[in-house]
Amino acid sequence: MFEILDAQLNRQKADGLQRVLKTVSSPCGPELVVDGKPLLAFASNDYLGLAAHPALTEALVRGAQQYGVGSGASHLVSGHYLVHAKLEQRLGSMLSGSIPNARALYFCDGYLANLGVLSGMASLVLKSQCTIFSESLNHASLIDGARLARVETLIYPHNDYAALERQLQASRSKLKLVVTDGVFSMDGDLAPLKQILALCQQYQAWLIVDDAHGFGVLGEDGAGILQQLGLRSSQLIYIGTLGKAAGVSGAFVCADPRVIEWLLQRARTYVYATASAPALAQALLASLDIINGEEGRALRAKLNHLIAMWRTGIRLQRWQLPDSPTAIQPLIIGSNREALRVGQRLRELGLWLPVIRPPTVPEGSARLRISLSAAHTEEQVQRLIDVIAQLESETAHD
Ligand SMILES: *Cc1c(COP(=O)(O)O)cnc(C)c1O
Repeated sequence: MFEILDAQLNRQKADGLQRVLKTVSSPCGPELVVDGKPLLAFASNDYLGLAAHPALTEALVRGAQQYGVGSGASHLVSGHYLVHAKLEQRLGSMLSGSIPNARALYFCDGYLANLGVLSGMASLVLKSQCTIFSESLNHASLIDGARLARVETLIYPHNDYAALERQLQASRSKLKLVVTDGVFSMDGDLAPLKQILALCQQYQAWLIVDDAHGFGVLGEDGAGILQQLGLRSSQLIYIGTLGKAAGVSGAFVCADPRVIEWLLQRARTYVYATASAPALAQALLASLDIINGEEGRALRAKLNHLIAMWRTGIRLQRWQLPDSPTAIQPLIIGSNREALRVGQRLRELGLWLPVIRPPTVPEGSARLRISLSAAHTEEQVQRLIDVIAQLESETAHD
């Protein structure tokens, strides 16, 4: 038994694919203490700097004083508290500009929400009558959701809505589910949702959008990619996560009330999971107050300013900077080894950037995944620009 384990673990290491945990002992923010050492981080998804915001911390404490620390049961048994209901109402009204009569359902996290929504929606008809149309760069949780649904799944190439149209046109399925990330998590680009939604309307398909990296940062009120693109339809099923820009944890699905009613009956990751602590919902209400208000607007403006500063400031010879308008700014290096070496050099110079390798990204496209936050300063972004330029010329001479 252990021989197999040892051999596989060694192979992982030999291929430069071993993943290693690093332990943080400071609050989430640009300046972290990592394994005892101070580092300037461009690593988290805390795009607005809310994860350690005093107003959220205070709300969490207040929530714990009111409700304690555990929910005690799943939502449908006895774990659904007034503050959960308030949070769902608030999220529903945030999305009501994009989905008529939007209602929201709060899940423990985005992975569970995606599993529950895909398998739950697919269970509306016989397995042979449902097809999932899945974008090739979708997040692992959507891929696993499609697997759990156990229906025919067709993959369409990244952003290729002409290919999607051919697949929709050829399909005889009664229930069609088109599934895509809103903002692609390793590339930072936006899905062409306007065109995709038009296809879904033409071919009577549901459009399921996972906006893990758009909720809170995109759109006038931070309501996400649908608001940013001005889309509105009852055929939209929106999934937002609450552990990234919203700074806490959890996720929600927002859709027509009948869709939500069905998921409440049939999304197994909702029905059979203990509800997350009510105090977290209290912290999330404080987060949404910020996101929807003046402070949120100012934070999004600051973030966009830093994104523009990075993109105009960086000059590269060999590495590539794909066209991303969001806080996710990948820097494609290519080989696993060079990417790891660069990651190591960055840490020696006091910076922490995650190195992303296959299978998370395609073979030969190992990269640094830089994520910017409104909590960064201009000086910190300038330091990033300077260090990256230095390392690129340094490794060219190796
Ligand atoms: C992070 C992420 C998820 C998972 O959400 P969690 O709340 O972290 O479980 C789902 N989809 C995408 C695109 C993500 O980036």
